[in-house]
Amino acid sequence: MIDVVLNSHCIRVLRRELLTAGSNEIGGVLAAEQVGDGRFIVVDLSVQRNGTSLHFVRDPVQHREFIRSFHERMGNQPERFNYLGEWHSHPNYMATPSGEDFSQMQELVEDEEQKSTFLALMVVKLGKGKKLRGSTYGFRSGCIPVRGRLQGIEVGAVEEECGPLILLLGDIEGKYDTD
Ligand SMILES: [Zn+2]
Repeated sequence: MIDVVLNSHCIRVLRRELLTAGSNEIGGVLAAEQVGDGRFIVVDLSVQRNGTSLHFVRDPVQHREFIRSFHERMGNQPERFNYLGEWHSHPNYMATPSGEDFSQMQELVEDEEQKSTFLALMVVKLGKGKKLRGSTYGFRSGCIPVRGRLQGIEVGAVEEECGPLILLLGDIEGKYDTD
């Protein structure tokens, strides 16, 4: 189980950027502090704004530069402060990874050119009342992705996107709704 916690700065940035982007997908990389076994506080993130309503393609050059300057700011302590993984938005559908997202992340973590043995993917959107909503998964080379827990540092700042199972139950309930 992994815990991904967004600090207040990241929550503010994400909400603002998601509002501005509207129905276009945006994304970037996550820079985090490891505070325990499988527990990470996302302290900064990069934002790339050239996605469309159906697609977001990461620009590795832009994000490499962001991580390089993050290491510099944190005094080069990669065992504590490091690149955690990727994020992007799904403004028009569920904030859980698509099949393509899963295979792209798996490819990235298996890629020998990059040094991380573990990477996280966070998918977000604005939910009801413009509240931040999302999900996170952990990826390891040769392993099946595992869903983690996504939270804000302030309780209740992030809502977990429900899995398909819960949605299905919601649909069944809806059928018996007599209103
Ligand atoms: Zn996606």
